[in-house]
Amino acid sequence: MSKAPSSPPLPTLPSFRRIVVKVGSSLLVDSAAGAIKRAWLESLAADIAALHTEGRDVLVVSSGAIALGRAVLGLPRGALKLEEAQAAAAVGQIALARAWSEVLSVHDITAGQVLVTLQDTEERRRYLNARSTMTKLLEWRAVPVINENDTVATTEIRYGDNDRLAARVATMVSADLLVLLSDIDGLYDKPPVPGSDAKLVPVVARITPGIEAMAGASGSELSRGGMVTKIEAGKIATTAGTHMVIASGHVPHPLARIAEGAPCTWFLTPANPVTARKKWIAGSLEPRGAVHIDAGAVRALRTGKSLLPAGVVKVEGAFGKGDAVVVRGPDGAEIGRGLIAYDAEDADKIKRRSSADVLVILGSGGRVEMIHRDDLALRGE
Ligand code: GLU
Repeated sequence: MSKAPSSPPLPTLPSFRRIVVKVGSSLLVDSAAGAIKRAWLESLAADIAALHTEGRDVLVVSSGAIALGRAVLGLPRGALKLEEAQAAAAVGQIALARAWSEVLSVHDITAGQVLVTLQDTEERRRYLNARSTMTKLLEWRAVPVINENDTVATTEIRYGDNDRLAARVATMVSADLLVLLSDIDGLYDKPPVPGSDAKLVPVVARITPGIEAMAGASGSELSRGGMVTKIEAGKIATTAGTHMVIASGHVPHPLARIAEGAPCTWFLTPANPVTARKKWIAGSLEPRGAVHIDAGAVRALRTGKSLLPAGVVKVEGAFGKGDAVVVRGPDGAEIGRGLIAYDAEDADKIKRRSSADVLVILGSGGRVEMIHRDDLALRGE
């Protein structure tokens, strides 16, 4: 007897190494009581601690600054003006960060608050800076707790939603999974209103116009916007090699529930993070210059090493720190592209120099690599 064909198994939480968890305001803040939903947050912290103890890196993108500030200040219902929202966030963010720090410290985990603006993820120089900070926190085994810097973000230049911010953070740190904890357990094929036969879509292999149409149609005005930004987040994440899962946060231990197979929607990425990220570097950026390297450096790069200043013989172009440059071998042929860690002036000053010299020449203790291996896409890789 032949077996019924089965679909490929879905990823499971333990198979991921670096996970970004996004938590929405309505999950965290009890507006009526004017306080954080502490018991729920403690249950989530326990789930995070379990993943962390097993050696995984966990980052949290937490909303709630504005909602919590509004509650603490006892502001009336209704839309806030920009300066009111900014001032409310100033009050709420302190309480939010303190709550995260407390619930994680119960598990001997240190939290580090990171507030970012849109420019921090869209401008390459600032992107690299923000990424270094988060990577350092992870190296120290801390849990970065990230939010948009709402007190300074103005309407035109802000994310406004943490779904897309979380997706950018996930791609920034090459996370392999983004979890969006939401007030709905996933994407439905039609509006999941009472009495409808709407079905949860368990897996989205690719975000097609059909999938986008489902998001546009699901639920109320409020959740409609919500699902649309989640699909946008899904596009950002999966294009860059990060799987995404939307799951309900309206249950205690929401991450453990996903691991147990609770209903949710998985958005699958076609590639692994490094490959997709390198594809992004290799293909989608305008190179601003070039570095020519010697044969020894070419060999080192081919064995997976970073490009050090010592191997660079010539620098061309007027690029800034974090810009994409072409890497050329001794015969001038392009061997790859990468995001360079120095601007053209500094790169020129430190070419052919040993790493010890570099620190003296530039007078600072930054990273020494000219192009870090994670920022380098070799041709044919
Ligand atoms: N950054 C906002 C806050 O913390 C939330 C944005 C969102 O809800 O997605 O209040």
